[in-house]
Amino acid sequence: MRPEILFPLFAPVHSLPGIGPRLERLVEKLAGPKVVDLLWHLPSGLVDRRSRPKIAEVRDGEIATMEVTVGLHVPPRTKRLPYRVHVSDETGEMQIIFFNARADYLNKVLPEGGRRIVSGRVEFYQGAPQMTHPDHMLDASEIDQMPLLEPLYPLTAGLPLKAVQKALRSALPGLPELPEWQDAPWLKARGWVRWRPSLISAHEPQSTADLDPDAPARARLAYDELLANQLALGLVRLRMRRLPGRTVSGDGHLRRKVEGALPFALTGAQKRALAEIDADMKSTHRMLRLLQGDVGSGKTVVALLAMLSAVEAGFQAAMMAPTEILARQHHAGLKPLCDAAGVRLALLTGRDKGKQREETLAATAAGEVDILVGTHALFQEEVSFRALALAVVDEQHRFGVHQRLMLASKGGTGTDVLVMTATPIPRTLTLTAYGDMEVSKLDEKPPGRLPVDTRALPLDRLEEVLTGLPRALARGAQIYWVCPLVEESDEVDAAAAEERHKHLQSMFGEIVGLVHGRMKASEKDAVMAQFEAGDIKILVATTVIEVGVNVPSATVMVIEHAERFGLAQLHQLRGRVGRGSGKSSCLLLYQTPLGETAEARIKIMRETEDGFRIAEEDLRLRGAGELLGTRQSGLPTFRIADIETQKDLLAAAHDDARMILERDPELESERGKALRILLYLFERDEAIRYLRSG
Ligand code: ADP
Ligand code: MG
Repeated sequence: MRPEILFPLFAPVHSLPGIGPRLERLVEKLAGPKVVDLLWHLPSGLVDRRSRPKIAEVRDGEIATMEVTVGLHVPPRTKRLPYRVHVSDETGEMQIIFFNARADYLNKVLPEGGRRIVSGRVEFYQGAPQMTHPDHMLDASEIDQMPLLEPLYPLTAGLPLKAVQKALRSALPGLPELPEWQDAPWLKARGWVRWRPSLISAHEPQSTADLDPDAPARARLAYDELLANQLALGLVRLRMRRLPGRTVSGDGHLRRKVEGALPFALTGAQKRALAEIDADMKSTHRMLRLLQGDVGSGKTVVALLAMLSAVEAGFQAAMMAPTEILARQHHAGLKPLCDAAGVRLALLTGRDKGKQREETLAATAAGEVDILVGTHALFQEEVSFRALALAVVDEQHRFGVHQRLMLASKGGTGTDVLVMTATPIPRTLTLTAYGDMEVSKLDEKPPGRLPVDTRALPLDRLEEVLTGLPRALARGAQIYWVCPLVEESDEVDAAAAEERHKHLQSMFGEIVGLVHGRMKASEKDAVMAQFEAGDIKILVATTVIEVGVNVPSATVMVIEHAERFGLAQLHQLRGRVGRGSGKSSCLLLYQTPLGETAEARIKIMRETEDGFRIAEEDLRLRGAGELLGTRQSGLPTFRIADIETQKDLLAAAHDDARMILERDPELESERGKALRILLYLFERDEAIRYLRSG
């Protein structure tokens, strides 16, 4: 339960003055639905209104706060012309300019003969100073009410800066004084102050230096966030380690059968990874291992062989995939191999309902299923295993830490966990997403893979591409045609794909299929099955095929509007071809003119197929913040910390978390209790459940 002291911070943003239902939606889009989300939304700039020149002294372009006497109002002769108000002081005259102004309003805020403070940017027009739409206009006696230093915030269309400023100005004074969770000597050494004053000063910058991520107030908040992240991961890991593991050691009889049924030999990298996994499973501690291997490196078979060890030893294994398509594909791919060895394989997804589902659940609980493949459905409450020894989580960056462990906890005592990812995550990011999980790498591709011939063409040559398709089809090629990502909405993406599908179908008839995120799962499966069987030759798709889909006979990948995709995504998509022995190609169709970043991305795609190099270039091109923030990355996002530039803070937080948990694993000391509040503050609530008295 969230501590009471944090309640005001977790109130909805509409509890702040000036945030009604309309603005609430915008604030939610910008920062989030809760007060605390807005508090983490730090200023990106600063307006300094401290300059108080006389009219004769004011400089062109300056932001000035001036005390003036209001003179004549000159309403415009036509609507398009501005409304002018003459003002003066003892040194000279100036005009204040308004467009689309209402005279009654202006007469109220700038009454003729009144003494007024105006603040805004001054610009010279034909040698004379003017101020267009002052930011502030108030009575000379009210000067104290105007902030001389004004923070600027990143905004979203329709959300006025003043509303954000006002909401924050009213939220800040009410901030609770939270118990200190940081180590006092460390705070002192860094020159940092407590949380509350840090957050307040972060929102009240006194100079542009205060906007720097390394400015004390911001650095402290970033460190808080990193510590919460590392502590949460540390707790999860500690808990995993503390639960007794069990020794799982197969005799190899099933593995031998499956290996005999495989049409290939394992690569050296696959053997090495498997040996590492075997050693973990045999040992008495719990395995918590990440299997990292580029697209097409053959992770699935490693997982299968690991699961077979568990089955040989009389246990069960489960494999969870992030999408329905992928779960079904895994099931279909593993089925013949499992059959060859007499291993009982079953499938469970959210879609399985009724009798079939009941049967699968009952068989799993009774131990009549050896390997259960599925989606998120696997960690629902009614799923229980007789003896789950190994949980494999595929393409795990799509799942949260908590989801992974939910599956592991199905095993009760010491289920080993193997998570697999194709995203080659740079080292620093691994630390934030996995803490210190052990890592096995598949750094070698199966032999005989031909490089994918990657080309880029402007979209206005689409006709040529279409004319070339019959030739490819005549060669027996199967083609993926990926449609532009219009926005982060399945609906709009689907529309674009539907249109392209219609177009291609009018040219090539029934051999053109369509798959997108808005289709029913059963429809998607049917289309994928037809593509696999070769009945569909051209598959028009959105990014639903991005992860894991394996149809080795497909050899051509066309990506429309390649400039709209991220590098990691392009790499994943291209990874759908070049999986069989046929020569594959990838065509990147782009809209001209190509922006600098998009051009760099396409260049890298043409230069290399090395996922690790691509990930590094991606990080360089986009910066960690953006890489982390994107839908496809699934990695944790940080609100304040920038882990690319604050690696040292991340490292310190890592060590700090480790030390804390060594001394006070249940967070029961004075500092420990404060740290629990920190975890709640950064919404790492799930980690708290791993404490005995959570
Ligand atoms: P990923 O690592 O992307 O999940 P998959 O496990 O889907 O890759 O494997 C990609 C393809 O490579 C599959 O068709 C699989 O059968 C094949 N494959 C896996 N290991 C080998 C190997 N050692 N030799 C040849 N082909 C292999
Ligand atoms: Mg895979």
